[in-house]
Amino acid sequence: MSDAENSKPSNFIRHIIDEDLKQGKNEGRVVTRFPPEPNGYLHIGHAKSIMLNFGIAEDYNGRCNLRFDDTNPHKENIEFVDAIKKDVRWLGCDWDDRLYFSSDYFEQLYEYAIELIKKGKAYVCDLDAEQTRQYRGTLTEAGKNSPYRDRTVDENLDLFARMRAGEFPDGSRVLRAKIDMASPNINLRDPTIYRIRHGVLHHQTGEAWVIYPMYDYTHCVSDSIEGITHSLCTLEFEDHRPLYDWYLDELQLGCHPQQIEFSRLNLEHSITSKRKLTELVDDGLVEGWDDPRMPTIAGMRRRGYTPASIRHFCQRIGVTKSDNIVEMGVLEDCIRTDLNEKAPRRMAVLHPLKIVLTNYPQDSTEELTVANHPQNEAMGSRKIPFGKEIYIDQHDFAEIPPKKFKRLIPGGEVRLRNAYVIRCDEVIKDAHGEVIELHCHYDQDTLGKKPEGRKVKGVIHWVSVNHAVEAEIRLYDRLFNHPTPDATKDGSDYKDHFNPDSLRTLTHCFVEPDLADAQAAAFFQFEREGYFCLDPMHMPDKKPVFNRTVTLRDTWAKMEQKNKK
Ligand code: ATP
Ligand code: MG
Repeated sequence: MSDAENSKPSNFIRHIIDEDLKQGKNEGRVVTRFPPEPNGYLHIGHAKSIMLNFGIAEDYNGRCNLRFDDTNPHKENIEFVDAIKKDVRWLGCDWDDRLYFSSDYFEQLYEYAIELIKKGKAYVCDLDAEQTRQYRGTLTEAGKNSPYRDRTVDENLDLFARMRAGEFPDGSRVLRAKIDMASPNINLRDPTIYRIRHGVLHHQTGEAWVIYPMYDYTHCVSDSIEGITHSLCTLEFEDHRPLYDWYLDELQLGCHPQQIEFSRLNLEHSITSKRKLTELVDDGLVEGWDDPRMPTIAGMRRRGYTPASIRHFCQRIGVTKSDNIVEMGVLEDCIRTDLNEKAPRRMAVLHPLKIVLTNYPQDSTEELTVANHPQNEAMGSRKIPFGKEIYIDQHDFAEIPPKKFKRLIPGGEVRLRNAYVIRCDEVIKDAHGEVIELHCHYDQDTLGKKPEGRKVKGVIHWVSVNHAVEAEIRLYDRLFNHPTPDATKDGSDYKDHFNPDSLRTLTHCFVEPDLADAQAAAFFQFEREGYFCLDPMHMPDKKPVFNRTVTLRDTWAKMEQKNKK
């Protein structure tokens, strides 16, 4: 870990905990949890919450549980449970043996609901969904009491037991908390505690239940059962806190966790709404949850992001109460910094143009020793073959050069990186006038030496035609052209801003020969091109596929500055 990662973060939540510890609250314990609902894959916003919860537990000698809040079986499944566990672990967080499901507590939650009924604090209501909405009132108008609100305790107990026994169809009845239909906080207007759901197979409890507890009720009671001291959640739950507290106070459970809200992470050119990410997957706009363009942890992993870079990012953005949107450049900067240090350098030609070195001996090959990293000798060196025919990138040659072009031009000289200076003598074209080959001269006295009597400014990368390995290279870019695709001023749909160039596939590229045995997800800097990783999903018997993780420089920042002017 870098120094930046080692220094402990400071934020308002940590200040609250420091104060709690000073006051001797919770007997000095700090227990947090990360509570995903298994209805999708985790995204970069979840990473913020994961690092916050697990980070606090680690720094305060506490514990952090992984708990699935699994109260919506029709939207959840075991694939999501497994993916979430994999992603949390990959980020470097460890829940030891503290893997929980809210569904573990269904029986207890049911018992607590009975307690509420007995206290006269909950009732079975027969209003249908539309009526319930009408009775609820609005932000400016108080609600009305349900005609079923004054059922006797016995009647409620009987009906609730029969709800559980499966006697009533979906939607015919719910159990509601009896709070206050005139409360200015709509969450307190007799919210639903239990609803009926027949015929769904729950990934943990199977067919055991036909009634399911609502999220708000389940969440706080689960926190309490687990002895959570600080229940950290995002700001949209601020208005739910009074309800959370009401349940815990009415039930008088031994532990009353303190809910603290922080702002969600929003990332420019991306979206962090699970519902919308699900749409992208279901509509086939991306290949799947792990499409390298997705802001999901699985997508970022496949794209070549490292856990360290994501942890560093979470530290950099910090934790506050104010809503903000983080520039994509900040995330990209974190991965660049990490890979600049760790990624071995290689050469890869993305748009090949063949060069024949006319004065190089036929059938001869030499091996050039090249450092794997310019600043880090410990990363060693490798041998790369050099021969009579090489590929360079088409963009490194211009017949009619634009101003300041320092690379190869007819009659001009350029240095081949780690090798010789060459001069372009002849341009070979096909019948359509397209350049298909260059005939060049190499200066054999320039290996590791300056050419005599002249200056050669440009340095370009290359690979040997006879030795290079053919590869597919996927150039990934931002998923959306608009910085805030789901909050545009003109009210357009986020899908209208899908970046059609977010993936460009180059099928005919050439890379250094040793990349044929690259390990899945191994990362490299392809010199002058960016950072790449071997696609972990590629088939070992097929042409290797490399994913571009990030470019060497932030080209969007420049564009956006221009747009703002
Ligand atoms: P939904 O509730 O619509 O399914 P969600 O994004 O809230 O979506 P959860 O699985 O409930 O998904 O989230 C788990 C935890 O991650 C919650 O505590 C939530 O507050 C936190 N979280 C979710 N999105 C973000 C975000 N963008 N930034 C920070 N924390 C987030
Ligand atoms: Mg949620």
